[in-house]
Order: sequence, then structure tokens, then C-alpha cells
Amino acid sequence: MNAIIFGAPGSGKGTYASRLQSRLGVDVIAMGDIFREILKEDTPLGRKVKGYVEKGLLVSDDIVINVLKERLKKISNGKGFILDGYPRTIKQAKALEEIAKIDVILLQMVPDWIIIERLSSRRICRNCGAVYNIRYLKPKVDGVCDKCGGPLYQRSDDNPEVIKKRIQVYQEQTSPILQHYKKNVPFIVSSITDLETKPETVIEEIMKELKKLKLA
Ligand SMILES: [Zn+2]
Repeated sequence: MNAIIFGAPGSGKGTYASRLQSRLGVDVIAMGDIFREILKEDTPLGRKVKGYVEKGLLVSDDIVINVLKERLKKISNGKGFILDGYPRTIKQAKALEEIAKIDVILLQMVPDWIIIERLSSRRICRNCGAVYNIRYLKPKVDGVCDKCGGPLYQRSDDNPEVIKKRIQVYQEQTSPILQHYKKNVPFIVSSITDLETKPETVIEEIMKELKKLKLA
């Protein structure tokens, strides 16, 4: 099964992708993580990407497409994937069509107020990057990481005004891409309407729909 997962920042798509990975035995290709690694490397590609980031520009489609191609080569035969953070443009979507068949789109619909609630109560360990939430996933000791004892902090862009802006950017970027796929790829839409919905509930729903499509 080859899937693409879409969802606003704070929609939980990263969590869902990794849970589906263990349920289905597919690879998760998270483009954000791949680019964070590339940025750390002192390679021609790393320097090129840094050039874009430092100027505040989006990395060019050609670079993103090549990085994806390289990553797809590493997937063992017959093993599917869940793509997260790609495509961001129609050009990227079309390039993907030439290298892989997409069986399903997993779309996470989460109301803005839930995203704002979740992200503004998020805390991150400065030392190991572990993610907590002061409402739903509290550390054992306030402000201290359970895993490594490091201090927890709030990202400066996890405040309601910036979060609203990030949701808007996501929607503007994604809606033409979703329109593009609606023509010929089935969608599984997960809608969350309250804060208490557990990830397992969402995963069970997605699994049920995947079975209907004979993809699980
Ligand atoms: Zn930590």
C-alpha cells in the first residue's frame, strides 16, 4: 500500500503515520525529518538546501523531487510507504506519479480550535526533543523531561496567532493538491470533533476503511 497523509500542523498525522507503520509494516517517509537531517550534513546538497532556508525560501521542487526519489530507492521491494510532508506542489505530485502509484490519501480533518489547544499546550525537551503536552501528556515532574531530565520549553511559533497563520498556510498549500488527487485516488477522511479522541480510535477507523479498499 502506498499512501499520502495530509493534515495541518498539530493534526496528529505524524503519530498516526508511525502507528500505521507498525500495524501495516510499511515505511514512513517524513520529508520534514529527511530535510532536517540533510541540513545537518556538510555536503553539496546540504549546502544548497541551507542556501534556500537562510533566504527564507522554499526548497526548489527539483531538489525535493530528487530527495524523494533517492529515499524511495531504499524501500525494499513490495513494501509500501506512507508519505508525510510531500507533495507540497502540483509539480511534486506529478513527479511522484511517474515513480509510484498512490493507492489512498489519508486526510486528517481537525478543527482549528483543537489544533490551537493542542499546540499551545505543547512542550518540548531542549535536550532530546521529546514532545509533551501540559494537558494530555504531562511529564512526571513539571518542566522536566521524563526520558533524560532535560528542561522543557515552548516553541516560539506554538502560540495562537502564529498557529492560526500556520493553519492558513497549510490550507492554501494543500487544497489544490487535494483537488488534484480527488479525481482518481480514494480518500480516507478522519474527522476529529473533540479533544478527547484517542489516537487508537482514529487508527481503528482508518484500518477499517483500508480493509474496505483491500489495502490492509
Ligand atoms: Zn529529554
